[in-house]
Amino acid sequence: MSTSVYSDHLLCAGCNKCMYVCPSPGANVVSRDRTGRVVVSINRRKCLSCGSCVTACHHGARNFQDGLKRMLSDLQKGKNISLIVQSDIVTNFPDYLKIFRWLKNVGIKNIYNGALGVELFAWAHLKYLERYRPFSLITSYCPVVISYCRQRRPELIPRLSPIVSPLLAQTIYLKEHLNVTDSIGVLSPCVAAIANAAPGKGPDYSVTFKRLHEHIKANGIDLDQECASADPDEPPETPFLHLRPDLKKMIQTRLDTLIRVDTAQGSEVMKLIDRYADTGVEHLGAVFDLRYCRHGCSLGVGSCPETNFFKARTLLENARRSFGEADIISHIDRNFRLFEENLNAELFKDDYESPALSEPGVSAEEIENSFLLLGKDPGPARRVDCGYCGNKTCLGMAVSMAQKINLPENCVTFIRSRSEYEKSKSFTYLDLIQNVSEYLLLSPGADFDSNAEHALMALTYSMDGFSASLWKNVYDSEERPVCQRMITYPSKQINKNLVTVTLDDPPGWLDTLMEGNSIMHLKTNMNKVEREKFLGRNVNAILLTPILARGDFWGFISILKQEEKIFSDEDIAVVSICSNILASSLINQNLKDVFSAAKLKLL
Ligand code: SF4
Ligand code: SF4
Ligand code: SF4
Repeated sequence: MSTSVYSDHLLCAGCNKCMYVCPSPGANVVSRDRTGRVVVSINRRKCLSCGSCVTACHHGARNFQDGLKRMLSDLQKGKNISLIVQSDIVTNFPDYLKIFRWLKNVGIKNIYNGALGVELFAWAHLKYLERYRPFSLITSYCPVVISYCRQRRPELIPRLSPIVSPLLAQTIYLKEHLNVTDSIGVLSPCVAAIANAAPGKGPDYSVTFKRLHEHIKANGIDLDQECASADPDEPPETPFLHLRPDLKKMIQTRLDTLIRVDTAQGSEVMKLIDRYADTGVEHLGAVFDLRYCRHGCSLGVGSCPETNFFKARTLLENARRSFGEADIISHIDRNFRLFEENLNAELFKDDYESPALSEPGVSAEEIENSFLLLGKDPGPARRVDCGYCGNKTCLGMAVSMAQKINLPENCVTFIRSRSEYEKSKSFTYLDLIQNVSEYLLLSPGADFDSNAEHALMALTYSMDGFSASLWKNVYDSEERPVCQRMITYPSKQINKNLVTVTLDDPPGWLDTLMEGNSIMHLKTNMNKVEREKFLGRNVNAILLTPILARGDFWGFISILKQEEKIFSDEDIAVVSICSNILASSLINQNLKDVFSAAKLKLL
């Protein structure tokens, strides 16, 4: 299904509101753009074109496009176009007759009242119910609801009414019954208006009231002037009848008052559909009629900005009062009789099947891993359910992370605990540097090894490590550099496999360190030799930082970790500082040894 809604990354503030209001799981995807900003884009395959995100986004990053520009351009090229206008125009443009005049002036050939489509829809349903007597039928003229059932609850497809939407019914009626050869456009407040049309069967243009309103304003179109230039011989437009029949009323008054018709509207209908699918038929009515927009189509996402619930009610009531109830019934009766005499209801059955989405499943283990990445242990931390990440629940977030459509940094508790951790780490680092300095520079030199082990212990704990070692560069009999391990914390962690590091073993280590560069390898990017040496001991991350004494390579410090987690730039900087302190202390120690030896000689 192709969507009319789009996302503008440049305007996206990463607030996740779009995701929170979206009825289609997975239709919003969190990622980082080229500059590293977190942005939310649309998965067009999963988007239902409901437009909820357009309303929710206060940053202008969500919008929709319609067919107005294309239709106007085709009219200019001389194309024959007629327009089905949904009767909600009376609530969106109080001076809609002037709009009709302008539409005629720009070349629209005929204007058809969209209420006819609703009548066809109701009539075809009565025929269908009468003939097939289904026991639980889902009906809706809302394309968003139909798309949701088709995509998300394919098991409900057999229960979906096969009758097409009012708009498609009217298009079929015009093209196939009245043999209208013009291209057909629709003017409505719905951004999903033609979402479920079978290829080549729906209208050719979908124009929204909102875009039309913007066009009139932006181009300074004077509607009074447009009317003044009307052909004096052309009869004035008749008032646009707003006689849309209500399906429930139609079924109960024309078929049987005892037929149970459940109705629901608003964004919660998706949850109701899910419940419906999981409920036994003994609890279901014969018909379940749904629509997505809470206040009906008049206030759809594509409606005029000046329209609101109260104004729409007033205009609607005024339009309805201009006809008596009896007039409305006799109008519908007359049309139904005409349909009966001239139409076959089968004409309005849908033979188009859009494929259900097949979602790759995520395993319980992947969900558990996501929770661990978020730092959420089993318990209340997994039930915060604040919605900040765009998911209604923490479990939803863990699932979307497992599906790779959300990032941990979108979780508010993750960010909070990380910032607290970073803050506490900064203090720990200061303590660490101070401790290492005290152990190595300020304490008496007699017990250098013990002091150095204490320094390595402090380093191990600060880095959440498993062990830390000090390695000294020496030369072998062929004058090749070799590093020997001098001290390790904790000493029982000494790896008998690795007491020296040579130019070839592990490959690349000494060359890199002698050039003054650090090495950081995680389990995933360790070379074969490293994997052999470390993975058996459950070491999944290693950091090596060189020690330079007066510009020469003296040796290095290694830190091993069980957790496969990268060392931050700050971690590496702190280890380097400690290495330098260690180097200074060693030089100091050497000098002391030299002085002691000289003193002994002199004595
Ligand atoms: S609502 Fe969605 S698209 Fe709009 S700024 Fe927020 S995250 Fe971005
Ligand atoms: S238009 Fe609706 S379905 Fe599509 S992304 Fe926006 S909220 Fe989700
Ligand atoms: S705590 Fe995090 S994962 Fe849970 S709902 Fe809030 S933001 Fe989402």
